Amino acid sequence: MSLQINNSPTTCFKFNQQLFYLKRDDLLSPISGNKARKLYYYLINEFININTIISYGGDQSNYMYALSILAKIKGWQFIYYTRKNSATALNNVSGNLALSLNNGMQLISIENDFKNFCNELSIKSLQNQLVLSQGGFDKNAKYGLYQLAQEIRNWAKMMDFAKLSIFVASGTGTTAFYLQKFLPEFTLYTTNCIGNKEYLSGQFAILAAHGKKSLNYPIILDNQKYRFAVPNLQLNDLINQIMLASQVEFDLIYDPIGWKLLLDNISQINQPILYLHCGGVNGNVTMQKRYEYKFKAK
Ligand SMILES: *Cc1c(COP(=O)(O)O)cnc(C)c1O
Repeated sequence: MSLQINNSPTTCFKFNQQLFYLKRDDLLSPISGNKARKLYYYLINEFININTIISYGGDQSNYMYALSILAKIKGWQFIYYTRKNSATALNNVSGNLALSLNNGMQLISIENDFKNFCNELSIKSLQNQLVLSQGGFDKNAKYGLYQLAQEIRNWAKMMDFAKLSIFVASGTGTTAFYLQKFLPEFTLYTTNCIGNKEYLSGQFAILAAHGKKSLNYPIILDNQKYRFAVPNLQLNDLINQIMLASQVEFDLIYDPIGWKLLLDNISQINQPILYLHCGGVNGNVTMQKRYEYKFKAK
């Protein structure tokens, strides 16, 4: 299988008379988006003692789907734990869950004490098992994100940009944190799509504790309003406009919040602006179903 896990193209489009550059990591393959960067370390190295990946989280996670591809490439088993009765009923499997099961993922739902159960996974794991944290909150993500930072730096040099504002929507904050760390000459902006601002800065502090130097953290544009994966007509309208203007499909969970917060704060952000497209469009069918369910007959 041919891997295209770095050197994604950069394009641009105009929206409201403003020029936006797009780093098209969604075009990476077979794993797409920032998950390809975060799993780069595992993709390019050999792990002779490992034959099983263990992870956990939501049953429509983009990271889950990326892990199912990694497991397939490596010929490993993939065991994934999720909460009992989380979003999807098993007779209506679609999106990332359907794709992951199709790649051989074993899904196990945990009835009680999910958090505690997950915390113990790495302690109880065997030598042949690679336990990966929810959403890829993992210091080994830095290898692929270092490569991404180099690509952005080289592109900025080619464009003759001495300064650059970079925006990426955050879940665990891993992508934003390492990009800012590896691109100290540029300014990283992000927003909290999961949890509140304090949660996200806490994530940065945990990642910073792995390293030694004191660092600049990405600037968090505080999202106080929009909840993760909850359908919102205003956000839906905005992302449709962005997709029309750019002719690029975006993820319907992170990117609507990302674009909303970026545009709401645009007056305080210096040009040029590069938006990192983190992929995730395979999950869109499921989010579209949530929209239909919530807003049908209204
Ligand atoms: C995973 C993901 C993110 C968040 O990445 P983190 O490194 O966890 O902050 C953003 N956008 C999309 C589309 C993703 O799949």
